[in-house]
Amino acid sequence: PNQVEAIRSAHDISVQGQHVPKPVLKFENCLLDDKLLSNLLEFGFSRPTPIQMQALPAALAGRDIFALAPTSSGKTISFLVPMITHCLSLAKMYGDIYRSGPLGLILAPTRELATQIEEVAKKLAKGLPHMRSALLIGGMPIPNQLYRLKRGVQILIGTPGRVIELLNHHKDALKLDTIKMVVLDEVDMMFKLGFNEQVARILNSLVDPGIRQTCFYSATSESEKSMQKACNKHMRDSIKIRIGKSPS
Ligand code: ADP
Ligand code: MG
Repeated sequence: PNQVEAIRSAHDISVQGQHVPKPVLKFENCLLDDKLLSNLLEFGFSRPTPIQMQALPAALAGRDIFALAPTSSGKTISFLVPMITHCLSLAKMYGDIYRSGPLGLILAPTRELATQIEEVAKKLAKGLPHMRSALLIGGMPIPNQLYRLKRGVQILIGTPGRVIELLNHHKDALKLDTIKMVVLDEVDMMFKLGFNEQVARILNSLVDPGIRQTCFYSATSESEKSMQKACNKHMRDSIKIRIGKSPS
């Protein structure tokens, strides 16, 4: 236990919550799929960043997370690797799963951020069977998005506005009841841009917290308290992770 504390304090990781998994110092210790691990190493990432050290094992264990870490600290990998891993393990259990509906949903506040996340997801999933994503953002033709949804995808990446629009007008194409893991990226920006209600509506249209996994990622923010209060409604038995010195 002291060793775990030493690792956390050496990397400015603080945690709150019940039974928080140990941080990992190497990607190799995460029991990842071989191909996923080699794709990760191909990025040139030899070792996890502090947020990845703690958020990866927690998210891989299926836990709900509220994570605060500075910009450019590597948050994207810390939710994409667990999401792809969950998809792979379901595919191993049930075979060709992409016809049964998407398993993962990632919401980002802007088109650009959603697009960047999808690019990383594609690189990580390169060569993995049954891994398809759909980008649900404004400014792109809805018919193309509907076509991809109909072909079957595992991971949806979108902005709240377009997801709501699809829920309102294309309910048959966008079914969210199969979503097992939902990620909200850049929560602070999401709130600043006024997406609170749209986000709450999307989260409330999924299976209940406790059945699904819910992970919130934010840059460190002044409005941490109110943000966390809003997020807590959508999580169960969550783990809070903070990277950096706590505000005093
Ligand atoms: P954040 O979402 O926290 O702002 P990103 O996930 O966008 O950060 O990552 C920031 C940069 O760090 C990206 O260029 C990414 O490729 C790089 N990066 C992520 N993880 C690692 C790692 N383990 N080792 C080295 N670079 C990394
Ligand atoms: Mg980010």
